[in-house]
Amino acid sequence: MAHARVRLPRASARVVPHGLNDHIFPFPPPGAPPGAITPRIIRQRTVHTYLTHSAVALALLGAACARGSAPATGAAPAAFDPYVPAARVHAPQPTTADITPADLRTRLYIFSDDSMMGREAGTLGNVKGTSYIASEIQKMGLVPAGDDGGYFQTIPLKTRALKDNPTFAVNGAALTPFTDFVPLGPDSFTTPSVPIVFGGTVGDSSQTITDDQAKGKLVVYATNAARMRLRRPGGAMREVPSAAAIAVIALEDIPPQTLAFVKRPREFLDAGASADPAQTPQFIISKAAAARMFDAPLDGLTAGTAGRSAALDVEYTVTPVADPARNVVGIIPGSDPSLKAEYVAIGAHNDHLGDHARPVDHDSLRIWNHIVRPEGADDGRKQATPEQQAQANAELAAFRAKYPHSMRVDSIDNGADDDGSGSVTVLEIAQKIQSMKVKPKRSILFVWHVGEEKGLLGSRWFTDHPTVPRDSIVAQLNMDMVGRGDAGDETGRTKDGTPIHGSPNYLQLVGSRRLSTELGNIVEQVNRDDHHDMQFDYSLDADGHPSNIYCRSDHYEYARYGIPITFFTTGLHSDYHQVTDEPEYIDYPHMAKVGNLVEDIAVHVADLDHRPVVDHPKPDPNGVCRQ
Ligand SMILES: [Zn+2]
Repeated sequence: MAHARVRLPRASARVVPHGLNDHIFPFPPPGAPPGAITPRIIRQRTVHTYLTHSAVALALLGAACARGSAPATGAAPAAFDPYVPAARVHAPQPTTADITPADLRTRLYIFSDDSMMGREAGTLGNVKGTSYIASEIQKMGLVPAGDDGGYFQTIPLKTRALKDNPTFAVNGAALTPFTDFVPLGPDSFTTPSVPIVFGGTVGDSSQTITDDQAKGKLVVYATNAARMRLRRPGGAMREVPSAAAIAVIALEDIPPQTLAFVKRPREFLDAGASADPAQTPQFIISKAAAARMFDAPLDGLTAGTAGRSAALDVEYTVTPVADPARNVVGIIPGSDPSLKAEYVAIGAHNDHLGDHARPVDHDSLRIWNHIVRPEGADDGRKQATPEQQAQANAELAAFRAKYPHSMRVDSIDNGADDDGSGSVTVLEIAQKIQSMKVKPKRSILFVWHVGEEKGLLGSRWFTDHPTVPRDSIVAQLNMDMVGRGDAGDETGRTKDGTPIHGSPNYLQLVGSRRLSTELGNIVEQVNRDDHHDMQFDYSLDADGHPSNIYCRSDHYEYARYGIPITFFTTGLHSDYHQVTDEPEYIDYPHMAKVGNLVEDIAVHVADLDHRPVVDHPKPDPNGVCRQ
């Protein structure tokens, strides 16, 4: 699952912020055996909202900052022992035609092994992971459906990096980069002199300027802190398409770690110049910088007030990623002569977050997160209360006493649950369906998407450039994080903030009726009639839910084209987007139940005499995702 993020119109670049927020863990803990310890500082991964090239994103940054800690309601987590003896390695066994816990275990220990180096899109580790998937479906005999008759569809993933010393001068006086202004790109931009005009306040349509007033100018917008908390597109950019550049006065509101991400190189899909029209250059500026742009005080400015002039010079370099970023695509042809031209798509994502230069202490991080950040990276802004810190210290001390030789450092985001679990479950479903003597009537399209963690890039590319006719896809079933969801896991919160915990048959459904009521009904019917008996939790599907899960995995890229989807997940947990997301913490029987249910639903939909009826409005495929 991708970080909490904003859906942007196409061609908007996104950043996956990888970051470290120093968190000092007392080390050695009280009572620990002497001499067993090395590092003093444990680095704590945190979540960061996607920072994007728009004031919309800024608005959401505000929203993210505003998310306080959830009320401590709900049952206390069960006693927690992170240590699973003798399970860090697993000898692979031959897999069977059925979807079994043993098969899933064998596959996941391979797919989320350290040798895959966290499977980040555009790296060798992801190439290894996708090669494993392709070799498995080749063995099964799936029909290749990627580029050029192969199993891979390579996406044009590139890295855009800001060159040193961007220039922003007002009336000849240079502003200081990252103190007075931050370039948001996306493209290189140079102008010796551009007039400045005040555009009003972002999101306040009562006082704004026309596109004619903005034409050829640098438009400066104020922000309203209260409004910044609203999840509402500002639309400033769209209202002044003729502006030469846009600057938003908000630098003081951006946390330093977020600022650090802005400076980092970021990956984007390079669809080519014709498909990717030049975008208006954007900046975040400080109040002090803005004050130098106008003769009158900022507070008294009205929209349309002319300012001084600016000279701008911002340059970016663009380079392809080091290794190919690949969707893996295979088909099991249908058995009905006419219906085989239609497809039921099943998907997961093959990429994850990669690795870190600085290792962390695995067990102490895991214990700390379980107590302080029960939803892992989604709780990235929570800090320990003194009581929680004391509890973490005590649990770590007890753990060290119990397992004095267990110390291990960890630097790889193995992503066993995210989305190793979905990826290997899709493999098991393919193996199961391929073993059927009579195949389903419609064809089954299997896509393991790349670049999900960088902003659903692989699924965006696939749905924009599908290797089967897009309209022939009658439904898409997406699995992302389907290997946890137990009673000790906080799988999410209700819309009003009450924590939710899992159970042995727990399964979250998101989006199953958002386009097709019928598809949502079929999912329930198959679960009931075929005695899967999973307990569905629709809490995260609520309209406007702040976790925004509907917009955070690959299914949305299909839904934006009006393809009915269901997103299956066992939800969040304290290892979400942490190096501690490992195969030994996966609940394989639970995952097998999910796999069997999804396989059954896919076959049921593939055998229908009609496509699932779309009875809700289709979204704008180039618009913004709304949960
Ligand atoms: Zn993820």
